[in-house]
Amino acid sequence: MSKVPSQTRLELPSPDKSLGQHFLRDQNIIQQICHDFKDQAEAIVEIGPGPGILTEHLALMGLPYFVIEKDTRFGVYLDQFLNKDQITLDDALQVELSTFFKEKNISGKKIWLVSNLPYNIATPLLVNFLQATDIKYMTLMFQKEVADKVFPFATTKNFMGSLLVLCQSFFECNLLVKVPPGAFAPPPKVDSAVITFVRREIPLVPMAEFRTLEKFLRQMFSQRRKQIGGVLKSYYKPEIIKESFDSLGLSTTLRSEVLTLEHVLELYRKLRS
Ligand code: SAH
Repeated sequence: MSKVPSQTRLELPSPDKSLGQHFLRDQNIIQQICHDFKDQAEAIVEIGPGPGILTEHLALMGLPYFVIEKDTRFGVYLDQFLNKDQITLDDALQVELSTFFKEKNISGKKIWLVSNLPYNIATPLLVNFLQATDIKYMTLMFQKEVADKVFPFATTKNFMGSLLVLCQSFFECNLLVKVPPGAFAPPPKVDSAVITFVRREIPLVPMAEFRTLEKFLRQMFSQRRKQIGGVLKSYYKPEIIKESFDSLGLSTTLRSEVLTLEHVLELYRKLRS
């Protein structure tokens, strides 16, 4: 079980910018993140805990709890709250999550993934999380640029793209809270947002088709501002494109960025078949 946090605070090491280190200091936001799925989760995994700002709270919930942190300097900080077997000091991108969950005996439990995501690897990590089906809930902090691609919290138009379709196909997403730069030390240059994810019991696209869908989305959104009929011509026969668009009452002169989620998924089903 987790340790009781010690009262003596270690001083924080200097932040490593290359690892996207911005430490949360706003207690209100920390509380909101840590309360998000505490009543539903059966196990918690945190990616990039750093010195343990969220860990300190999450460790007290009495659930199986494991962290993966790349920066080995944080080992001694995490030791304050966790036992050795709960701490993995490794690059999360190199950890095969399903195997990790099995090793930690939490496979089959409703896993809640929590992360203040390192900016530069937020997208590839998220794509891995989507595919790890033991993860049922996620509470993820993103910088605005990535957050906008996952959930259009700031933009109201032209937000459609690959990441949004991938996320929404497998999870229901909502904005938990917008986070200003001052909530972190050191403050990043841009706003951030915490987005909360609940895995759909029945995904909009079968998980076995994840790679196929990803490939289709790359084609569809490779040139978001061009007429979509023209873009898709490199991949599909013109008559199949016309037939698919006609059946949905859509024009091939539209740009992919203005399509709805339903349209994108319908086009995927029609063009792929
Ligand atoms: N959770 C803390 C720290 C967030 S900063 C907080 O909210 O305050 C992002 C964290 O991700 C840092 O601790 C950084 O070292 C870690 N990190 C960066 N790249 C990583 C990777 N590839 N794998 C695991 N952790 C990584």
